[in-house]
Amino acid sequence: MIAEVIVDVAAYPIDRPFDYAVPIDWEHVMEPGLRVKVPFGPRKVAGYVTGIKEESELDHNKIKPIAEIIDLEPVLSAELLALSKWMATETIAYEIDALQVMLPAAMRAKYEKIMTVIKPEELDDAFRSFLGNRQQVTLKALQDANLLNEVKKYNKLGIVEIDTAIQQKTKMKKVRMIHVPDAKQLETALEEAHPNAKKQQELLRWLLLHPTESIEASKILDESGVTATVLKSLVDKEIVEQSQVEVYRELESPKMQDSGKPEQLTDEQQVALSAIEQSSNKNIQETFLLHGITGSGKTEVYLQAIDHVLKQGKEAIVLVPEIALTPQMTARFKGRFGELVAVLHSGLSAGEKYDEWRRIHRGEVKVAIGARSAVFAPFSNLGLLILDEEHETTYKQEESPRYHARDVAIWRANYYQCPVILGSATPSLESYARASKGVYSLLTLSKRAKNQALPSVEVVDMREELKAGNRSMFSLALAEGIRERLVRKEQIVLLLNKRGFSSFVLCRDCGTVVECPNCDISLTYHRASESLKCHYCGHEERVPSECPECTSEHIRFFGTGTQKAQEELYKLVPEARVIRMDIDTTNTKGAHERLLYDFGEGKADILLGTQMIAKGLDFPRITLVGVLAADTSLHLADFRAAEKTFQLLTQVSGRAGRDQLPGEVVIQTYDPEHYAIELSKTQNYVPFYEMEMDRRRQLGYPPYYYVTVVQFSHEDVLKAADYAHKGTEFIAERLSQGSVIIGPTAAAISRLNNRYRYQSLIKYKHEPALIPVLQQLLKHYKTSWAKDGLVMSI
Ligand code: ADP
Ligand code: ZN
Ligand code: ZN
Repeated sequence: MIAEVIVDVAAYPIDRPFDYAVPIDWEHVMEPGLRVKVPFGPRKVAGYVTGIKEESELDHNKIKPIAEIIDLEPVLSAELLALSKWMATETIAYEIDALQVMLPAAMRAKYEKIMTVIKPEELDDAFRSFLGNRQQVTLKALQDANLLNEVKKYNKLGIVEIDTAIQQKTKMKKVRMIHVPDAKQLETALEEAHPNAKKQQELLRWLLLHPTESIEASKILDESGVTATVLKSLVDKEIVEQSQVEVYRELESPKMQDSGKPEQLTDEQQVALSAIEQSSNKNIQETFLLHGITGSGKTEVYLQAIDHVLKQGKEAIVLVPEIALTPQMTARFKGRFGELVAVLHSGLSAGEKYDEWRRIHRGEVKVAIGARSAVFAPFSNLGLLILDEEHETTYKQEESPRYHARDVAIWRANYYQCPVILGSATPSLESYARASKGVYSLLTLSKRAKNQALPSVEVVDMREELKAGNRSMFSLALAEGIRERLVRKEQIVLLLNKRGFSSFVLCRDCGTVVECPNCDISLTYHRASESLKCHYCGHEERVPSECPECTSEHIRFFGTGTQKAQEELYKLVPEARVIRMDIDTTNTKGAHERLLYDFGEGKADILLGTQMIAKGLDFPRITLVGVLAADTSLHLADFRAAEKTFQLLTQVSGRAGRDQLPGEVVIQTYDPEHYAIELSKTQNYVPFYEMEMDRRRQLGYPPYYYVTVVQFSHEDVLKAADYAHKGTEFIAERLSQGSVIIGPTAAAISRLNNRYRYQSLIKYKHEPALIPVLQQLLKHYKTSWAKDGLVMSI
């Protein structure tokens, strides 16, 4: 038997399965989807069995045997193996990367150099005493003990051997269980016990008083008060048995609770649910776009649709864009489905993720809720996949494999012939266009679930404020609104649209902005550490006291970050209790949830934060939302800037007035006439969609054209430009007439980490040649250009 194995090496031209012989004893357990260890060149690596066959085309003598099988059961099903193949092709990624992205990080192999002693009698005394009775030690341990030179010497003489060992990073958590016989046997043991063995008798009596079949050893020790030695003597005498039992790590129980009662659906919700249920009963793949305004009860539709699927004995995956959503969302799902829910998000430790993954893999849970990678949850009978906030860009992975969770979800749904729900108040243009064409089925929720009015929105022109002499970050209208809410004991959300809007340092005499020495980007001021940091490469330096260009001392902080906003807020309303949420206040485990929980409990009046507060919050006392600078994201070098701005404004506005109290929104901007801002006043998606589609058509952008970006970077600016030209030409010569290439041009950040960056934009409608051409170019890059220091990515 021959196994085809994709080895754990991402390099060209290794990206294909290799044949390995299956030792005869293992033939009956060998299956695709198992992880194995195999010899590869001079070392051993981990790999995935992707296929099994009788014969290899290779010379039999050249085929090496598999060294070890890592798993008892396949970790990847036939479905996921097929998905990885499709994903590797579609995103032009290495197959090994496409396989690994589907598993929790804890399951990736770790490589270590290990020294094994061959002839112990020839070691000197000091070395031998270091080893004790160990046969094998890691090179790292030997290096720490300053023994590396001796090891090299012994290695040359054949006294020791050095090899690469593969280790699994995370292990299952195990506890020691004691299995107790029945009372009669315990009594017999008690009678037969040696009269001097008082402690053993005591333990036997304790066990008689606490009848159980099995109990954790640590619990016996804690509660009976005997020592481990006493327990061990009962084990040795075979009166009780012990074993190691695997347990799951206990997750911190969420602070937020939810009653779990299903709501009586509104008419619109009922129409949507029925359509999904009917589709699900028919066993066909259908993608629904659930377009519902903020607070219209989309989540309730998800919950009841999942309920339907569970009753069919099937499973469901729910994707949410980032951890901002999970505390409240998780509580709602756990409230409804209890123990049947697994949660996968970035706040979990590697071990916890591994446990959640195994609960799904073993079929112990039926619903997985999580961020992007939860789309790979190892279910085997999927009945529904849901992407909440489907327009979010975090659904696209930015490193290889560059998959989009929406595409993967639809692929899986096709495999299982089940529905997909894409939900959003502001769908991506792509999805809404597909729904308009009938590729997706459009479901609309146009009213809020509790019939509340949408908040009223006021747009404030900050230029006028300035003219009237108001230099603060808060317009008169917003300041007034904040004070009113404080009096009425209602809550306020303030959004600082931070992207490209952090504080930088500017010389008032010569206009110099302090920039990162490695990147063409200004440094960000951090008050806590009194330092300037580069958010791209991590460079950090002390705040200068004079201008690095002209040595003027008139150097000051400019722009504004959340810290600065908090200070200004304090000047405005010193009595207000403020919770700030940004990268700095949420970088510890659980901080995110704790802050939101406190706000929900009314421990603060104002929640001030970046994008992370814009979505998913559902708190009844929020009646005012303020957007401090709406237009900052309009000026990004991104054709989606207007769409992103509209989405953000609609999302954050949707936080206000979700319950009985009416909501109000104040949007501050320097560009009130911009259509994205103008149209967000009414929160009316369709007019925005039409306007933006028009513009995209004129400019030749998605969804009218597909866009692929190829990037080139090099330490030498001339080489970067030269390769960018060569690469672009290579593509241009091979594409059809209908496709357009723009570039090469300098990237938006033209130097990053001391590398110069160029890019070309390929726009196309239908270009079957594209993937093969890009693969060809990548191959050429990997075999030749990469050696000259070029980094190319697609
Ligand atoms: P969305 O996901 O569209 O923003 P949610 O599902 O969070 O909306 O619903 C908003 C609020 O309305 C929540 O507090 C939810 O419990 C409530 N809700 C949803 N559906 C109903 C309903 N049919 N009747 C009453 N309340 C509902
Ligand atoms: Zn200066
Ligand atoms: Zn930098």
